[in-house]
This record gives sequence, C-alpha cells and structure tokens, in this order.
Amino acid sequence: MDKVVSLTKRRGFMFQSSEIYGGLNGFWDYGPLGVELKRNVKECWWRDMVTSHDELATAAGAPMPYEMTGLDSTIIMHPQIWKCSGHYDLFHDFMVDCRESKKRYRHDQVSGRWVEARGQRFFVATQLGGTEGEEEAQQRALKFLNLRAKDAASLAWDGPLVSLTTVAEFSQVLGPDAKALGTLTPPREFNLMFKTYVGALSGEEGAAFLRPETAQGIFVNFKNVVDSSRVRIPFGIAQIGKSFRNEITPRNFTFRSREFEQMEIEFFCHPQSSPQWYQYWRDRRYRWYTDLGLAGERLRMREHHTDELSHYSCGTADIEYAFPFLPPGEFGELEGIAHRGDFDLRSHSEGKLVRQGNDLVVELGPDGKPRHPGSGRDLSYFDDFTRERFVPHVIEPSAGADRGTLAFLCEAYREDSVPDEKGEPRARVYLKFHPRLAPIKAAVFPLVKKDGMPEIAVDIYRALKPHFNVFYDEKGAVGRRYARQDEVGTPFCITIDSQTLADQTVTFRDRDTLKQWRVRVDDCVEEVRRRLTGN
Ligand code: ATP
Repeated sequence: MDKVVSLTKRRGFMFQSSEIYGGLNGFWDYGPLGVELKRNVKECWWRDMVTSHDELATAAGAPMPYEMTGLDSTIIMHPQIWKCSGHYDLFHDFMVDCRESKKRYRHDQVSGRWVEARGQRFFVATQLGGTEGEEEAQQRALKFLNLRAKDAASLAWDGPLVSLTTVAEFSQVLGPDAKALGTLTPPREFNLMFKTYVGALSGEEGAAFLRPETAQGIFVNFKNVVDSSRVRIPFGIAQIGKSFRNEITPRNFTFRSREFEQMEIEFFCHPQSSPQWYQYWRDRRYRWYTDLGLAGERLRMREHHTDELSHYSCGTADIEYAFPFLPPGEFGELEGIAHRGDFDLRSHSEGKLVRQGNDLVVELGPDGKPRHPGSGRDLSYFDDFTRERFVPHVIEPSAGADRGTLAFLCEAYREDSVPDEKGEPRARVYLKFHPRLAPIKAAVFPLVKKDGMPEIAVDIYRALKPHFNVFYDEKGAVGRRYARQDEVGTPFCITIDSQTLADQTVTFRDRDTLKQWRVRVDDCVEEVRRRLTGN
C-alpha cells in the first residue's frame, strides 16, 4: 500500500487536503491525473448504468425491460428529511473512547458485570450480550487478575450483565479491549452529520445538515420524476454527488473520508418482483467491477446475515475488495446493494417508521403523534395498465466513487522487469488500468527533436486530441518517456521515428505486453479508438 500511496502522490493522483497548512484529517484532493481517473470511474458508471442502458431489451438476468434516468439534487435539504430517513436518530450517538486501544464504542452498546476478587471491585465491559457476554466477562476478569480458568470460583460476581450507561464513573471499568482499568473517556455526544445554518438565522430554526448520502434526494423527488417524465415502473433514478460524514476515525487513505462522492441508484419496482430485481442488481453491479478489471480473489460479494440487516431491509449484499492496507483475509466495502422494501417512500409520506414484528409502523412520540412527521404527500404509484395502486419497493445499489477509484488504483499497480535500450533488465512500475479508466489514453513522442519528427508528432497529437485525452512529450530518452507513461497507466505510446519519414507509419507500443507494431499516420485516430473500445 505504501508504494501505491507514494506513486499517487509523486505522480499527482491524490494529495492530502490543505497540505501546506498541515492537512485536514479525512479530506483528500485529486490532482491532475487523479481527477481524470475519478471522472472516468464516474463516467463509466453513468454511461453503463444510465445513458447506454437499452430500455427496449430485457437485460441478461433481469425479469423484464426497465428504464433508467438521472437526477442532481442539492447537498443541503430540508432538515425533516434526515429525521424521517432515520439518519438524525441513528447518526446521533453517545460514544466512549478507549485511550488504550484507541477504539470508540457506542455508549449504549457496551455492557458488563461488576466483579469482586483479590480485594478489588471492578466492572468488566463487553460488547457481547447474554451467556456469550458473561463468558467473555469471566475470561477477561481472569486474565486481568492473572488467574487461571480453574480459579473462576474465586470471582464474586455482583449482579447480571448491565449496560455501561448504568455506570456513573469509569475509573473502575475494564474497557472491552483494554488491559488496564479506567481507560474509557466519559460519553460524548457525536453526530455523524455535519451541521450548518441556512440564511441569517443562526439558531436551531436555521439548522440544516450536509447530506450523509445522496439517496434521500432521490426519494423526495420520486413524485416529481414520475409526474414530469414518462417513466413507468420498473425504473431507476441515478445520482452522483458529494456526501459528508463526520467519521469518527477517518483512515486508510481515501477509504474512509469525511467528504466523499457516491454513485447511487434507487430502483423502483413492484413489490412482487422486487426479490428478482434485488438479485439482478447484485449481479449487474458485481459484473460492472469485473468488466473494468477488478477480477479475481480480491473482489467478492458478501450477503449479509439476517441479524446484520437494517430494520427495513429484506436483503443486503456488499461488494468488497481486499484493499492492500487491510490484514490478509479482510475485505472493505466498495458498494452495498440493499432491498429496502417500501421503507423510504412510506417514511417520507407518513413519518419515520419503526419495525413492529413483521410490520413497519410510524414511530410515535410521547404525545401519541408521529415522532418525526412525514411530508403527508402520497408517494404511491398508479399503474394505468393494471389499474393497480401501490407503494413501490426499492432496490438500492450504493457505491462510493472514491473507494472504487482507490480499488482500481490498487488493482492496477504492477511491478515487473523490462529490457532497456541495451537489452539489460530494468525494474518497471506500471498501472494496468482498463483503457476506459486510464487518465491518459495515448502519448505521442517524436524519437528525436529534429528531422521533421516533432512536426509530424504534433499533427498526430492534434488529430487525436479532440477525441481522447492524449499527451505530447519530446523531452529525454524515449525509454524514460515510456517509463513515465507506464507509471501513470497510459495504454499506448505512439513514436514517430526515422521510418515514419520513409513510409508514413509510426510505432504503437502496448503498455502491458510491450508489443510494438506499425500503423499508418492517417490511421492513428482509428487505431486508438479500436484498441480502447476493443472493437
Ligand atoms: P462503512 O460500513 O464502510 O462505513 P457504510 O455501510 O456506512 O460503509 P453506506 O452507507 O452503505 O456505507 O454508503 C454506500 C457507499 O458509500 C459505501 O459502500 C462506500 O463506498 C461509500 N462510503 C460510505 N462512507 C464512506 C466514507 N466515509 N468514505 C468514503 N466512502 C464512503
């Protein structure tokens, strides 16, 4: 990973935000090559999911044809949206930090047991519940006191497992991952949403949030899209945009940032066919990554267990990548695909919902009224073919543009050895990007700066430039120029040499195979197009 990070900085893919002022934790800037790479990731996504989608055919694995359309909603929206979506309550937690393990826990998710032994009374904290929690507490108490399992009878337990919230002061608490007592900080309120103020009002009336996801902008525009366009269910609305989360521990380069970009689809369908659509989107999205080069053991699909599912979800799968900064065998989420049922549209219509048995019901406040009232707008859909009215179910493929970009970069990083001009092996670093993702598609070099070669090279560069992002370089030895392009993942180099002057052909060189072949000057644009598209 260190090599990838150093390459990205050296060649201008990514920089720490505000670096000259010492940086700002959790914020990243994309440099000249990084911006092209990330734009290509987003453009591939938009093109493959939205603009090139064939609405007349039934896509492989889909139950029937479907439509796709796009949206660009605002970052700051009505604050009630976050109350109905659940973010306001869910993202509003009391947290305790452990000074020793550097871990952070939700105050109400830690429990533990008081124990007396060897003249001390202390609270053994655990994140587990029930008998598992009791067993873990026993093991940790024994370990802390340097006792063996056979000494378990010497531990005098004072009451059952109770929540950490019942403990007033933490000096006698053994944190869930700590070896010493008193390492937990007092609970602090923590909200993952960035708060801001709209207009001149600085009080609570003007308070608003920077969106923590782009999805809600889609749900609240569902009716607008249906009423203003001719889309019919099943259809999807796609959106790419910035999201903000005041992450507690931003880390692993851009993987967990506080400002990041999401690429989200909310796909609206009939409740009866929603399980098939869920299956379709899982497979479709996985294939998107493999088509662009994330194949093999480092990419996997992980279906959530039922106890991991959000309260509204009937199924969720994550597409995960084995990022090199993770320990061997561990994967990080690139994208989540969730079957969200009718939770979102109903919440924005009726008010924030909670699960009661198998049903979702409006959560009531102490006054018996909805705790977070919805918009009151009817967000159901009327199918004028079947004459049926229903609240559509939603399948949500939610991807991170930054995590995707980082995965493509990590996957592309290669080292090998190539013969130099004298035939001696020379170590090489190259980025094996899929041509669609490569920031620069081709580089044009005159072999030497004389004999009319630069003039021909400039003509070729100008012929290519309106179609592709190409780069012109006439400085230094040609081997060095190749190496610089390999290092940033340019798939093709085009060299104008003495043979060009004789027969009007140039040398094309392939980044990965190092194969060289000759192409007529007039055919350069077509050759690059053919190679990039694989046709
Ligand atoms: P995690 O569990 O890793 O925090 P999440 O499950 O909260 O992620 P979602 O709410 O499902 O993430 O967001 C959808 C996608 O947005 C994620 O799959 C990821 O690609 C991206 N994403 C979420 N949080 C961040 C972040 N802090 N930095 C970069 N990308 C993020």
